[in-house]
Amino acid sequence: MSQPRQRIVILGGGPGGYEAALVAAQLGARVTVVDSDGLGGACVLTDCVPSKTLIATSTTMSVVHGAADLGIRVGRLAGDGGPGRIGHRPASVDAPRLYARVKALARAQSADVALRLAAEGVEIVEGRGRLDGPGAVLAGGQRIEAGSVLIATGALPRVLPGAEPDGERILTWRQLYDLPELPPALVVVGSGVTGAEFASAYQALGSQVTLISSRERVLPHEDADAAMVVEDVFRRRGMTVLSRSRAAAVKRSGDGVLVTLEDGRAVRGSHCLLTVGMVPATGDLGLAGAGITLDGQGFVQVDRVSRTTAQGVYAAGDCTGVLMLASVAAMQGRIAMWHTLGEAVQPIRLDHVAATIFTDPEIATVGVTAAAVESGAVDADAVKLPLATNARAKMQGFRDGFVKLFARRGTGIVLGGVIVAPRASELILGVSLAVEQSLTVDQMAHTFAVYPSLSGSLTEAARRLMRPAGDEL
Ligand SMILES: Cc1cc2nc3c(=O)[nH]c(=O)nc-3n(C[C@H](O)[C@H](O)[C@H](O)COP(=O)(O)OP(=O)(O)OC[C@H]3O[C@@H](n4cnc5c(N)ncnc54)[C@H](O)[C@@H]3O)c2cc1C
Repeated sequence: MSQPRQRIVILGGGPGGYEAALVAAQLGARVTVVDSDGLGGACVLTDCVPSKTLIATSTTMSVVHGAADLGIRVGRLAGDGGPGRIGHRPASVDAPRLYARVKALARAQSADVALRLAAEGVEIVEGRGRLDGPGAVLAGGQRIEAGSVLIATGALPRVLPGAEPDGERILTWRQLYDLPELPPALVVVGSGVTGAEFASAYQALGSQVTLISSRERVLPHEDADAAMVVEDVFRRRGMTVLSRSRAAAVKRSGDGVLVTLEDGRAVRGSHCLLTVGMVPATGDLGLAGAGITLDGQGFVQVDRVSRTTAQGVYAAGDCTGVLMLASVAAMQGRIAMWHTLGEAVQPIRLDHVAATIFTDPEIATVGVTAAAVESGAVDADAVKLPLATNARAKMQGFRDGFVKLFARRGTGIVLGGVIVAPRASELILGVSLAVEQSLTVDQMAHTFAVYPSLSGSLTEAARRLMRPAGDEL
């Protein structure tokens, strides 16, 4: 007689939830996903996917802005001012069309996720769910008993007291795409990843951007050399970057906003975008009653196979605060399912996560950090090659960027890297593969790269880290 199918209920249909559902369904479990705001989650509907769609347009605007240097006349084309007459009207953004595209693409992506789940036989319950003890979920007017539960409810934009969003002028990133126009003068509060990405994008789209950073430099948690390149580019392109400046309050003022800094200075703009972090969406889920421990900020505590402190209850994604990335959420969710369904499972390895900050230029990283190497916590050699001397970079007309590689001293095993370049997100895979497979700089250096290419700088960096035979430590 066949075993009864294990019943799994997943709270939240973002990447943490839906990727887990796909794995569990493929392994034969009976799976229900409870989701309140649309499949794909905030990732697909309001955060990752919309922001990267917006950035696809802003990156194209940057290309248009740089086109003259590559020998292209940009302006009114034939038929617009008579044959052969090229005007000087700069390219401009049609904001309603751009935002409509962003939202349509997000909805389409969400529909794709729904189709995929349906094809795998996953049951969907629309609405908010909560635990009723560790082995049951209340949702859609029913009580669903489950062998295992996965909590993947995500996180919400943090709100600063005194700077409450009104959805018109004072905004979270989730409200940008309902604006009727491009903000003429955008004040971005917060210079972490989200703040830097939107500041970069809106500057390229045509807004005058002021970026308020409470720290010495933008992107304070990232590779310092990379952050300096990006900040330098921001300033050169006309962005105002206010360092060591903390916003105390944001208020409506006439047709715009007034941002008051803690030191009393005032910054005016047409709109203000708040990017001051995320808070976990873990309230009102019945977690305490089910024996699930949260940390001081409300994130669900999990181990490396996504187990919470309650038997049979797992958690994945932003609600755990582990690393707020879609790829990490998805991996945590899959690991939870492999674990609960008795598959062989490897605990999550956060030191191998590849990540990108989608500024222009992009910053892509994987593996150990420069800070860990410089502090001596990791015994590694490092090399940094500016891309300004790379032939392909010259052809494409950019100078800002570098590749940096770290290799274990003695063995030459590649431990990590940083790439600052257009489309660094695509280039980092080579380093990621090397880190995952413990390849050495010798192996990387013997790998063919295309000439001319940016990836050629990666193999060159590896060559620079090679030790001559007989060169003992
Ligand atoms: C602006 C921005 C850009 C980003 N860009 C990237 C990027 O480029 N790359 C990347 O890897 N990551 C990116 N991220 C991070 C990424 O979006 C998150 O890490 C990811 O969304 C986390 O997935 P999740 O499944 O944990 O949660 P979510 O995607 O937030 O999904 C959670 C779902 O659960 C639902 N829910 C909540 N409570 C309940 C309940 N009680 N019952 C039922 N359903 C509930 C929510 O409505 C939501 O649908 C970005 C984040 C932001 C803010």
